Amino acid sequence: MNYRHAFHAGNPADVMKHAVLARVLAYLAKKDTPYRVLDTHAGTGLYDLDGANAQRTLEADAGIETVLNAPLPEQAAALLAPYLDTVRALRAAEGRRLYPGSPALALALSRPQDRFLFCELNKEERAKLEKRVGHDPRAKILAQDGWQALAAHLPPRERRGLVLVDPPFEEQGEFHRLVEGLKSAYTRFATGIIMLWYPIKDLRAVDAFRREVAQLQLPKTLRVEIDFSEVRSLDILSGSGLIIVNPPFTLADEVRTLLTAITPLMARDGKGRVRVSWLTAAG
Ligand code: SAM
Repeated sequence: MNYRHAFHAGNPADVMKHAVLARVLAYLAKKDTPYRVLDTHAGTGLYDLDGANAQRTLEADAGIETVLNAPLPEQAAALLAPYLDTVRALRAAEGRRLYPGSPALALALSRPQDRFLFCELNKEERAKLEKRVGHDPRAKILAQDGWQALAAHLPPRERRGLVLVDPPFEEQGEFHRLVEGLKSAYTRFATGIIMLWYPIKDLRAVDAFRREVAQLQLPKTLRVEIDFSEVRSLDILSGSGLIIVNPPFTLADEVRTLLTAITPLMARDGKGRVRVSWLTAAG
């Protein structure tokens, strides 16, 4: 386990994933009843973009830094406000160029009645996560394998909520594990929103993965992808994808609007591409 998200925090893939995550949480917060978030690969919860790791890659420059500073069309700005305002508030509160990981973002956007399970296997990353969000009574941090957590902690007592599966993709077979993870989560929590992140590097692997997901024939499976550069090598990230099972009914239109606004800003060619489509029928 060599992966350290600090090298990539706030990059275009993170912005895409977190912008969509924030829309899902905004939807869940429309009802007063509590929800639960299971974040199977949580990371540290907070990243210092002036820290040594982030400074080595400068990946956030084309991501959150560009998006925060760009004028946005009104509708996209409104859809992105919960996410971008969370980043701005964090920076204002701490006086540093920080970026929230999925746990900090989710906690910031939720209510007192909501609950969170964060799995992080790496000891050092988990210690940082503890320091960041461990004091929050709504959050439980687990030293558990995120893949096993899908079986162990679903369905949640609240019977509503979100499962976020965001693995590092540093091992062979991660796409297949994602499909197996989806099956496991859906079997136990068929009414939950299940969100899987995947990298776009090797287009053949991505195609095969999409086909495998579609073959599960789960109702309401949305595919959201952006490309921010041309495919140059199987090792270099050229885009970012999300599979979302049971998305809020407004999500497809919302993410199309907001990604159409921000993807060109983050893309190397100033255009980029956005794909939002149903892998299995919305009905
Ligand atoms: N979800 C985070 C966010 O959006 O801010 C980023 C997570 S990062 C892509 C993946 C994390 O998963 C890393 O911190 C890594 O240490 C951790 N990890 C790797 N394998 C794991 C496993 N089997 N179970 C739980 N965590 C794991």
